[in-house]
Amino acid sequence: MEKKVTKIGVLTSGGDAPGMNAAIRAVVRTGIYNKLEVYGIKRGYQGMIDNDIFKMESTSVANIIQRGGTILKTARCKDFFTTEGRKKAYENLNALGINGVVIIGGDGSFRGAQIFSREYDIPCIGLPGTIDKDIAGTDFTIGFDTAVNTAVEAIDKVRDTADAHDRLFIIEVMGRDSGYIALHSGIATGAENILIPERKTDVEGVVNALIEKHGRKKLVNIIVVAEGEEFGAVELGKVITERIPDQEVRVTILGHIQRGGSPTCFDRLIASRMGYAAVECLLEGRFNVFVGILNNDMHYIPLDKAVKKKQRMSEDWMKIVKILSS
Ligand code: ADP
Repeated sequence: MEKKVTKIGVLTSGGDAPGMNAAIRAVVRTGIYNKLEVYGIKRGYQGMIDNDIFKMESTSVANIIQRGGTILKTARCKDFFTTEGRKKAYENLNALGINGVVIIGGDGSFRGAQIFSREYDIPCIGLPGTIDKDIAGTDFTIGFDTAVNTAVEAIDKVRDTADAHDRLFIIEVMGRDSGYIALHSGIATGAENILIPERKTDVEGVVNALIEKHGRKKLVNIIVVAEGEEFGAVELGKVITERIPDQEVRVTILGHIQRGGSPTCFDRLIASRMGYAAVECLLEGRFNVFVGILNNDMHYIPLDKAVKKKQRMSEDWMKIVKILSS
């Protein structure tokens, strides 16, 4: 018989994402509603190892649903990759009687959770919290909607100045391995081209399209480039300047503004639903899964199936980009 979960820990790990606080709030309050003791673990797995763990009450999560970042702080923790590190983490949890953990993070954090739950008898539930949306098995991740809307707002502003000066802007958005933010924000801002890591960049094609546009005096152009795209926004800017000398080119790197800010309604909603579902999983004995939303239904995917999702750039979507920006 599965053992009963009575005390749970919650942590945020890996890259931060807006909406993590809403997820923490949902875990804490659903846990307390169900008469569980809930503990906050600071700085991801580091807090498990350092015993930086504290009891949380309903009031601990008051007034945080709208706040970006994470009140539990997050970290990348090298020691958790080692068996000694994980042993220490287990001993700390065990001493407090914590017998279930909710991990809010990306696929890396899920891998850590999976290894830990295989070694020790502490069930782990993952909640996908990453602005990159690159986890297979869920249509959405906590933070993506906010990040992409921040990118859209910023790109709209850049377009105003691009338009005033007849300039070409190359805008780098986040996404080291994945092009979701670039693809979504690019389409939503009417970008002339979108370059992502999942698709080989045809520099010649990009330049030729600009030359054609330049010929018919379409001088205001926005190219959205994901951070992990092979060529890079700066390099692309240099090539274009060389090939089309009378086109003014500027490069803007949006950077970390995409991680911060108050989460959108959508992110607060999925974080709340997922946080609630995580505690339900622990209560019902559905262990070592991560929570996903597919076609608006909750899904529970074994942690060992957590893999990075690759954005397949559909040719239809590229056609839309081309036609709508012509
Ligand atoms: P994300 O969760 O955002 O993908 P990372 O890949 O950096 O971020 O992972 C976050 C943390 O999860 C790591 O710093 C480490 O503590 C833990 N982790 C990741 N992969 C493993 C692994 N293979 N074994 C043990 N711990 C891991």
